[in-house]
Amino acid sequence: MKYICIGRNYAQHAKELGNDIPKEPLIFLKPDSATLKDNEDFFHPDFSDDIHYEVELLVKINKLGKNIPLKFASKYYDTIGLGIDFTARDIQSICKQKGQPWEKAKAFDQSAVVSTFISKNEFDLSNLDFTLHLNNNIVQKGNTSEMIFNIDQIISYISSFMTLKKGDIIFTGTPEGVGKINIGDQLSGFIKGQEMFNFKIK
Ligand code: MG
Repeated sequence: MKYICIGRNYAQHAKELGNDIPKEPLIFLKPDSATLKDNEDFFHPDFSDDIHYEVELLVKINKLGKNIPLKFASKYYDTIGLGIDFTARDIQSICKQKGQPWEKAKAFDQSAVVSTFISKNEFDLSNLDFTLHLNNNIVQKGNTSEMIFNIDQIISYISSFMTLKKGDIIFTGTPEGVGKINIGDQLSGFIKGQEMFNFKIK
């Protein structure tokens, strides 16, 4: 499976990192080796002094699709989850300056935190709150209504470039409020008040 991630999908987050608002979705990938699940500990890597959390709503693809028309995109996922797109911001800044790919900053081991998945039918996906708590204080608060590109648009767009397979997971972008983690921190994420993950930084 693969993780397909959307960058700069919330205007306020694009601004906080000094980026322009994108005119089409910005996509990048993480490998399956980046997975952190089941509330395992995150082990802070030595290669970065500035690992940032980015809480994101997740969508799990339920069948094979290529060139998916927008009007059929909602048929390609039944479940949603919550995750963190861990980012080595210091390394990403160097990659951006040099015009290099982001993989060292985005695709390292444990950089893709994924919760268990729950039925999308319980929720209004066009107006859904999610939050990230750092040591029990809210640090990120998002609502899907603030997305520049909604889930269906993202699925249709990605599938025009690469085949989506059953089990692939999409990270739909992070709202503002990203920040640095430190060893000893605890991160917990919620969809509409429901705890989705809770783990420690070691
Ligand atoms: Mg992100």
